[in-house]
Amino acid sequence: MDIEPFQHVTCARLPTPEAEFRLCLFRDPKEDKEHLAIILGQVDGAEGVLVRVHSECFTGDVLGSLRCDCGDQLHQAIDRVAAEGAGVIVYLRQEGRGIGLHDKLRAYNLQDQGLDTVDANLALGHQADERDYTAAARILIQLGVRSVRLLTNNPEKLDALHTHGIPVVERMPLHAPTTPENAGYLRTKRLRMNHWLPLQPVASLDNPSGVKS
Ligand SMILES: [Zn+2]
Repeated sequence: MDIEPFQHVTCARLPTPEAEFRLCLFRDPKEDKEHLAIILGQVDGAEGVLVRVHSECFTGDVLGSLRCDCGDQLHQAIDRVAAEGAGVIVYLRQEGRGIGLHDKLRAYNLQDQGLDTVDANLALGHQADERDYTAAARILIQLGVRSVRLLTNNPEKLDALHTHGIPVVERMPLHAPTTPENAGYLRTKRLRMNHWLPLQPVASLDNPSGVKS
């Protein structure tokens, strides 16, 4: 199996409102990307570590964009790891399902003209999803994680970690509320990208949870 450790790793203490994490940056001189791991507790040599593999989404993670569920999923993962007292959030620098921020914004414009998230990527000459999870497996192996309980709705992440030497012993869902802005996007993820997502009623400002009263 072709899994090389990262040559350059720098870690620092990172206190947050949720917990005091250790933030580690992994750099490979052969690649132009730096990936991150947000770590809590003892994970070296541990089995069944609570793990989220999260791909960078500037609009969702930083600005709380309602177009996708990324920010909500990231913050749920941070809360779950903090509540458990141990775990890893691997943060991969592959913005916009791997197409970059520039083309993600172009894809948003196509979506506002009626294309769904898959067809918008295809129209720009990309694949529907260009993400690669090899770096996540490399990071988890380097941290000494033996097996994981994975916070995800995406079957491709399970397969990729298994393929690259990280057994997934349990899959734990992460569900963001459905809103008028993200309803089409979540539907496309479920129907065209095979994500495990339930059909949920659409939340509104009057009823933010989306639960029918
Ligand atoms: Zn997003």
